[in-house]
Amino acid sequence: MAAASPAPTPQQARGVHLRGLLSRAAHAYYVLDAPELDDAVYDQLYRELLDLEAADPSLVTPDSPTQRVGGTPAEGFTSVEHRIGLLSLDNAFSLEDLEAWYGRLLKVLDRQGDPGAPLPALEMVGELKIDGNALALSYENGLLVRAATRGDGQGGEEITANVRTIASVPLRLQLAHPPAWVEVRGEALIPDATFAAINQERLAKGEAPFANPRNACAGTLRQLDPRVVAARRLDFFAYTLHLPDDWQPKGPVGSGDPADPGRPQNQWQALQWLQAAGFRVNPNAERLADLAAVEAFFRRWDSARKALAYATDGVVVKLNDLRLQDSAGFTQKAPRWAIALKYAAEEAPSKLLRLSCQVGRTGVVTPVAEFEPVPLAGTSVSRATLHNADRLDELDLCAGDTIVVRKAGEIIPEVVRVLPELRPPGAQRLELPSHCPECGSELVREQGEAATRCVNSSCPAILRGALRHWVSKGALDVDGLGSKLIEQLVDRGLVGSIADLYGLDAALLASLERLGQKSADNLVAALADSKAKPWHRQLYGLGIHHVGEVNAKALAKGFPSAAELAAAALEAPEQITILFGIGGEIAQSLAQWFATGANQQLLRQLQQRGLALAAGPQEREADRQGQSSHLAGSTFVLTGTLPTLSRSAAQALIEAAGGKVSGSVSKKTSYLVAGEEAGSKLAKAGALGVAVLDEAGLLALLQAGPGASPLGPPPGT
Ligand code: NAD
Repeated sequence: MAAASPAPTPQQARGVHLRGLLSRAAHAYYVLDAPELDDAVYDQLYRELLDLEAADPSLVTPDSPTQRVGGTPAEGFTSVEHRIGLLSLDNAFSLEDLEAWYGRLLKVLDRQGDPGAPLPALEMVGELKIDGNALALSYENGLLVRAATRGDGQGGEEITANVRTIASVPLRLQLAHPPAWVEVRGEALIPDATFAAINQERLAKGEAPFANPRNACAGTLRQLDPRVVAARRLDFFAYTLHLPDDWQPKGPVGSGDPADPGRPQNQWQALQWLQAAGFRVNPNAERLADLAAVEAFFRRWDSARKALAYATDGVVVKLNDLRLQDSAGFTQKAPRWAIALKYAAEEAPSKLLRLSCQVGRTGVVTPVAEFEPVPLAGTSVSRATLHNADRLDELDLCAGDTIVVRKAGEIIPEVVRVLPELRPPGAQRLELPSHCPECGSELVREQGEAATRCVNSSCPAILRGALRHWVSKGALDVDGLGSKLIEQLVDRGLVGSIADLYGLDAALLASLERLGQKSADNLVAALADSKAKPWHRQLYGLGIHHVGEVNAKALAKGFPSAAELAAAALEAPEQITILFGIGGEIAQSLAQWFATGANQQLLRQLQQRGLALAAGPQEREADRQGQSSHLAGSTFVLTGTLPTLSRSAAQALIEAAGGKVSGSVSKKTSYLVAGEEAGSKLAKAGALGVAVLDEAGLLALLQAGPGASPLGPPPGT
């Protein structure tokens, strides 16, 4: 009986899954022009597969994506063999990768130099890595005879008729003595603006948009109708030149005659040759003396690329000397003498380690994914918010999953999705806990609400959040009370509410970890000073739902003390919603807050500690002046029914901004505010040339704030 084959190791199983996933993604990308994965995610998983195959060569199969260049030629075109193979490029994803490649290159060329001495310098050419499609162009006796896609590197699709429509591809070389044959390689591309226009057109026709300019370009090159290609206005940058070994120019080498260039000895001269022959060569290529110059080139283009009219995904670094290129040679897939150094990824795969939960100051529980650290947009990322239980369900996460994480620019990292193909067998689904991880009380999720909350008002996490908010910049702005110290104060039971902060004494504080006597004294002084902070900051500091900095200012102006605001919130919410920008939701949230016993107690405690929770005389005066200067001197007349404001609300708003409201239109009237069914007043205003506003115009004028000319033309005219 044959022995049963041993069960695959986790690495072998992972290798097989990766191979399947990447093969499918490559088909979608190269053949269907409709990628399923972000390029950077594909690149990282591809690298993982390479590493697994290197560690266990039994995993390498002939159809592994690591063994192939590109995809298989699409149907509908004739396949052609390339005269000279058209390979891919190896990738470097960091400057360390670049240095490792350089070390390997020196080794192949036997130029390592002395141990300990600086690395020998090899001159390089730096070029932009244009995110388009490689083309192989064949010229015979100066005429374009064939154009092909890269295909699998050995042969591609014959697309001559399409390429002939690209204006920057010369149909005849501009040379006095063209060689018997010339092979030119370069990148066909679609500029960003054309890409946007193509996608708009596709959407209008109900077709799926292309994922990126590279796929749009590939799709265009494969059009069976060259007129469609011509309409899409592709561009082309040439970067590689192959000449017959025995070719020498007829004229004297170095004659300087642009129509008779000499035989290039290096890549830099090859670019010049191509330009002389009539090709467009990217103007941003540079000769780079050593590795430091390469790094500087990369860094510069990492930001400068944003101003380019076309997409680039890195820089390509090529050994300049063509003879040295020959000595370095090729691997199965790529030249050893060149490397593509890619810009930092904004999306990457990572392995999900666990789910943790954060409890915020309002008790909202936010699930957080913790995963293996990945470099994203220039920083290492290992945590990302999952927002709420709905998002968690939608993502369908299991422990050990391979997830795709994204961080674009400065934006907060997020989990984009899971790759279920790579899920380990028997993996457990991750769900929000039923109880608060901080205080153990049962979590609550109101019907119709996205948030899950801890409703225990003495939960230490809620208290810590409330304290952090109270001392934050926009609120009481207390220096020297950071998160660590707040944690100690709460954990030791020294502070049970924000009011307790004002009972702390310097001796007690000085006994805490990492706080000297001087810092303790400063903190006590800063807390004492904070009592005099303006009322709107105190209101914001209370952390009432929906009361951000802007709303707190508006509310504090309308209600100069906590007592007045509480009275309005509980008994006359319409007095609150009359304020510009304050809606019913805010009024309701204020009513709930002031009705809560614990909050009433907090206000009393704060007042006992010496906080007025009201505007001081100076603040009131400043508010009064700020208001009166705005529309002072303007007279308004109201007529008809306004869509949302009652007559009295509109009047209150105008008066709060310093304007006057009168009953009849005269030459002195500055504005007539007219609603529906406005009658004779509107006609009179028209006759007298008085400016007429609708409700939106009035609100815009009120919002224009101090400084706007009250007698200027009404907005919208
Ligand atoms: P590549 O794009 O990483 O690099 C090689 C190519 O760079 C060349 O063939 C050429 O077309 C281009 N190039 C641009 N400027 C150049 C210059 N100045 N000099 C030389 N070449 C230049 O490699 P590839 O083999 O074309 O494609 C592999 C890449 O395709 C992967 O790294 C991945 O990002 C992407 N891909 C994505 C998916 C997906 O699912 N998203 C699937 C397969 C491949």
